[in-house]
Amino acid sequence: MHRKFPLYARILIGMFLGLIVGFLAVVLGIQQFAWDYIKPFGTIFLNLLKLIAMPLIFASLVSGVGGLSDISRLSKLGVKTITLYIITTTLAVSIGLVLVNIIRPGNLFSQEKKAELVAKYATDLSVRQQAAESITHRSPLQFLVDIVPENIVSAASSNTSMLQVIFFALLFGVALVLVPNSKVAVVKDFVSGLNEVVLKVVDIVMMFAPFGVFALMVSLLVDFVGADMGSSVQLFASLGLYALTIVLGLMLIILLIYPLFLKFYAGIGFKKFYRAIFPAQLVAFSTSSSAATLPVTMEQVEKELKVPNEISSFVLPIGVTINMDGTSLYQAVATVFIAEVFGVELTLLQLLTILITATLASIGSAGVPGAGIVMLIIVLNSVGLPVEGLALILAIDRPLDMLRTSVNVTGDAMIAAMVAKSEGRLGSD
Ligand code: ASP
Repeated sequence: MHRKFPLYARILIGMFLGLIVGFLAVVLGIQQFAWDYIKPFGTIFLNLLKLIAMPLIFASLVSGVGGLSDISRLSKLGVKTITLYIITTTLAVSIGLVLVNIIRPGNLFSQEKKAELVAKYATDLSVRQQAAESITHRSPLQFLVDIVPENIVSAASSNTSMLQVIFFALLFGVALVLVPNSKVAVVKDFVSGLNEVVLKVVDIVMMFAPFGVFALMVSLLVDFVGADMGSSVQLFASLGLYALTIVLGLMLIILLIYPLFLKFYAGIGFKKFYRAIFPAQLVAFSTSSSAATLPVTMEQVEKELKVPNEISSFVLPIGVTINMDGTSLYQAVATVFIAEVFGVELTLLQLLTILITATLASIGSAGVPGAGIVMLIIVLNSVGLPVEGLALILAIDRPLDMLRTSVNVTGDAMIAAMVAKSEGRLGSD
């Protein structure tokens, strides 16, 4: 069966079956059964992905950097990667701003609905506000401090400290290159062997992916519409134009912007790229976490796009933490939508502020579910919009999170291919 069906087809089947079973569970009123007996398999799959993320980053980065003959290449690689990430993110925010100003989804939103939602999500809001406040009251340079861990074991114990582990792995890898080979040959061998083992673990986990994705879809559907299908449908309708604006923006990025970049800067065709990255997009869609998807993204980029490990191990983990084109576009659209509903006319300067803060806020968002909406509070604050605005969009955030996460991981993969191409290391180059 495995030979006949490629991975993406198996995951796709799992996803569709999950949608059907989830829907049936809601209709037949057996949500409890789904929560008790199906959801745990989704959680196990997610845990497996998270479990392997840290060892993967460490082994793969150390063996990648340790294998470089010349350290100056690393800084070149770094500058290239970060520049490309910032360019694509800014582009994504700009697309969001243009679209939302053309479509103006906020104008159609009724004031009664606004009052109803603000009241309904008041408590949910204060939790997210607290999370954002703890971020705002910090030194502007705190992000630099946060990158340097004081203890590697505690850094590696939390999946939200990925940048800290990346930092340590880079330092370790650089030192490995600087010490004469005769003294560290055994360490290099060990790390590259470890890397092989970790990649095999990813293979094993991916065999479980179709079932994991199935269970995740069932529980998502049951959680989302299960509580009150009638009001969920109503909400969808009233927020339809807002959601559509975001979906349209994400589609533009995926179907137009990325293919152009890929064609002109990486020489990769649309079909080849998307066939390679599709399994990662599906996993990102069902987990809403680009960090959890990292093992899959890495595997697909290396095996299918033939980006060498030395480059993907550097570009992808960094991308997972700082490059979020989907999230930045969403934050721009959401901010303007909230302004419209609250009757605030944004000036050109404020739009520019949104462009900058949404770019930075997406860089600051962790690759976990719902991170984008917490960081959105910072964008709202930057242009003086009320945080209550979040209440309008909270209900529909999860499906949009699923979509923007897929775009986030696609962007990371694209830049990995572009960097590899520019280094003359893509596929058969
Ligand atoms: N869930 C997104 C990700 O992991 C972040 C966000 O926009 O909430 O990429």
